[in-house]
Amino acid sequence: MRATSGPYGRGVTDGAGVGSGRGVVTGSARGLVVGFDLDMTLVDPRPGIRATVEALNAELGTAVDPDAVAAELGPPLEEVVARWVAPGDVVQVCDRFRALYARLGPPGTTPLPGAAEAVAASRARGRVVVVTGKYRPNALRCLRAVGLQVDTVVGWRHGPRKTEALAALGAHLYVGDTPADVRAARDAGAVAVGVTTGAWSAGALRDAGAAVVLPSLMLMPAVLARTPDPPG
Ligand SMILES: [Mg+2]
Repeated sequence: MRATSGPYGRGVTDGAGVGSGRGVVTGSARGLVVGFDLDMTLVDPRPGIRATVEALNAELGTAVDPDAVAAELGPPLEEVVARWVAPGDVVQVCDRFRALYARLGPPGTTPLPGAAEAVAASRARGRVVVVTGKYRPNALRCLRAVGLQVDTVVGWRHGPRKTEALAALGAHLYVGDTPADVRAARDAGAVAVGVTTGAWSAGALRDAGAAVVLPSLMLMPAVLARTPDPPG
């Protein structure tokens, strides 16, 4: 069933619509392109990250701190790992991390509250694109593990390269948990939606330029309900 009541969505009218995003169908199927970051926005990957770092240390004899890596999701893995690994070894260690993560990461990944509803409500308005710093094959594995179906996944993107991807995809909104996500959205001309499920506060996300900051994705259907379809 598809509502044809005009450019504004209906069906979720306020924050009380938590959990009711499933089945909200509004506007044109061609309508919005809604982008999401992955780690700490759609999913909590931290147990899988820790398990992978522990396996990496056991195999290579490195001393990478599992908790520190899991606490700093957002920047490229190479930058984070460089704190514990000699510069000449960073590429090899990160390649091995990604190989181990393919097996150990997805079982240690869970959807964040409201992720399924936010993706469903977004797809009902158009297309969902995931633009993430995570290596794309592993991003696909994690999405599959938590049962989230999206239209496009672009991986290994951070900072200006995230901006490029969002602009190329024509994203109207981008939802992320870091100030870098917010800046990427704004630089790409998208509405920046911050979510405080990661390590950054509402103030930090607002200071970066977020148009709206949510405590969780459970309120995303309400944001979509207030978002008009793009012209044309
Ligand atoms: Mg993130």
